[in-house]
Amino acid sequence: MALVDLEKVTKVYPGGVKAVDGIDLHIADREFVVLVGPSGCGKSTTLRMIAGLEEITSGQIRIGQRVVNDVAPKDRDIAMVFQNYALYPHMTVLKNMAFGLRLRLLRGPIWQMLHRRDARKIKEQIRTRVVDAARVLDIEHLLDRKPRQLSGGQRQRVAVGRAIVREPAAFLFDEPLSNLDAKLRVTTRAELKRLHHRLKTTTIYVTHDQEEAMTLGDRIVVMKDGVIQQADTPLQTYNCPVNRFVAGFIGMPPMNFFDGAVKMIDGQMIFEEGSGLTLPGNGFTLVVPPHLRERLIGQVGRHVVLGIRPEHLYTRPLESSAPLKVKLNVIEPLGNDMDVYASTDLHDHVVGRVEAQGGLEVDSRMTLYMDLRKAHFFAPGETGMNLSQTSESAHAIA
Ligand code: ADP
Ligand code: MG
Repeated sequence: MALVDLEKVTKVYPGGVKAVDGIDLHIADREFVVLVGPSGCGKSTTLRMIAGLEEITSGQIRIGQRVVNDVAPKDRDIAMVFQNYALYPHMTVLKNMAFGLRLRLLRGPIWQMLHRRDARKIKEQIRTRVVDAARVLDIEHLLDRKPRQLSGGQRQRVAVGRAIVREPAAFLFDEPLSNLDAKLRVTTRAELKRLHHRLKTTTIYVTHDQEEAMTLGDRIVVMKDGVIQQADTPLQTYNCPVNRFVAGFIGMPPMNFFDGAVKMIDGQMIFEEGSGLTLPGNGFTLVVPPHLRERLIGQVGRHVVLGIRPEHLYTRPLESSAPLKVKLNVIEPLGNDMDVYASTDLHDHVVGRVEAQGGLEVDSRMTLYMDLRKAHFFAPGETGMNLSQTSESAHAIA
């Protein structure tokens, strides 16, 4: 068990790629933290630096009380599971799982000092640990099989089992479920969560899949271009994204964004899509809801971006909603819900996730209703800050 602490950690690869740019991250003992972000944002590099597989260019990494910058990977007391978990094909599951421990406990100087009888005792202990881990993972009945006699999901569990038996201070996972089919990914994900609940070992998990991140993490760390954008609980990240990037990355289908401007008209604060400032022509207008007026007062006359999630669009008006006239392009039934893809005069990709219903017709005009209690306003640009947040929540601590 251990905390993991990164201070101003930077990685510049030979050739000059800055993969990780001065990140600070404090992971508590027993915490399950997920690093999430698009491909190339520096997740694997971060994990590999923690593991010691990649040298850090500057900064400091601590595991427990120890600074590990110069500690060899094998001495860092961590176990890592990769997407491509190589199992030894000629060894049984039991031997595969025991291999790392045997190497550590039965080779080298300790082994030479040991009496035969002690060695037997250690072998028995290893076996007990393997069987215990196999029981936790529900693969006890597979211990005598060879990897080729296992399904993909079973092999993945063996790879996790191999990490568990080492009883490390922390687990590191790098996209461990990517090779599994969609259904198996969901069940294995639930198992990993249960496993953490049971073992309570500090876990750092990397994925590009925002849904996996949301379901697994006590905390999720959203990265972009080697920089941490937000490190927060899944719910806080979803409800209060600090900037447009996080808002667009977390949640599926992604949040809708409308460029426009804030204006005062007859003493009323309104948001106008397009408004000549950002796009030619005039789009829709709406009255800025009361709870956001004070925060947007400094934005009057400026370009801002309205953000509204698909699940906050409705086909009927609510008390707090504003209408959005659209042309319906595609309907995707999902069972209980359906996704409607629509366009406005200025925007050809608006998505709503609404309750499944009949009577909607593709190519027809309809009105969607945006629940303004759930609206966000962002500064322009890819990582424009969330203007609708209070300053405390906008500076989520990593
Ligand atoms: P992620 O895991 O988030 O997809 P990586 O950490 O693998 O991202 O990569 C981050 C950046 O560093 C990318 O631009 C990638 O091309 C670059 N990179 C990764 N490994 C190396 C390497 N060994 N040498 C040079 N550049 C690398
Ligand atoms: Mg990666």
